[in-house]
Amino acid sequence: MTKIPKEQIALLIELQVKESAAARIQSTLNALPVKISEIAVVLNTFEAAIEAQKEHLADLKKTYRSFDTDIRANHERVKKREEQLRSCTTNKEYQAILKEIEEIKKASSRMEDDTIACLEKIDAADKAVKEKEREYTDEAEAVARQTAELEAAANMQRQSLDEILSVRDSLVEKIQPPLFKDYEFIKSQARGIAIVEVKECICSGCHMNIPPQMYNELHRGDELRMCPHCHRMLYVTQ
Ligand SMILES: [Zn+2]
Repeated sequence: MTKIPKEQIALLIELQVKESAAARIQSTLNALPVKISEIAVVLNTFEAAIEAQKEHLADLKKTYRSFDTDIRANHERVKKREEQLRSCTTNKEYQAILKEIEEIKKASSRMEDDTIACLEKIDAADKAVKEKEREYTDEAEAVARQTAELEAAANMQRQSLDEILSVRDSLVEKIQPPLFKDYEFIKSQARGIAIVEVKECICSGCHMNIPPQMYNELHRGDELRMCPHCHRMLYVTQ
């Protein structure tokens, strides 16, 4: 087994710490757009609800207008019948027209009741739309606030990512090139983690046992040993 200066191993460990931290920050940053759009989803629900309530209100107004038109038409019909009454020649005809006038007036009276009920519904629906629009405004403000907070946090994370990456670069400069090459190779083969700690004979990369002798040798800290299972570089905390 090749001897490696202890400080080179320490540099690899530090490099892994920095790279793992950078990867964690990067994955948080990558998830940011989805997180922001998830927060804004609630507004879509509000928009749909407001739209539905507005449609309901428009339907009610339409119903109101149609009652109004019918009542006016009935009014005209009554006027016409009343004129006919004046030119009536027989009592039978007179009674028939009177009866008809009464029927029309009854129908109008029913419609007037319906109109009042309809107006009340319009009033309630109008209030409901306004209330929902107020809620929407509050919600939109909350969404904007949360988004701004997330973006502010992301900016801080970008800053610390830059700092970590610059430390990482300076570490790389101090590591012997062949050793760094090995590190990079293992990293590419082992999901981004090239060097891992062994605790009580267990590799923290794959959670398998390593041979006790290897574990003892690792304590000397001047050799680079690989996990027989996941092939990552191993170290122990002295
Ligand atoms: Zn392992």
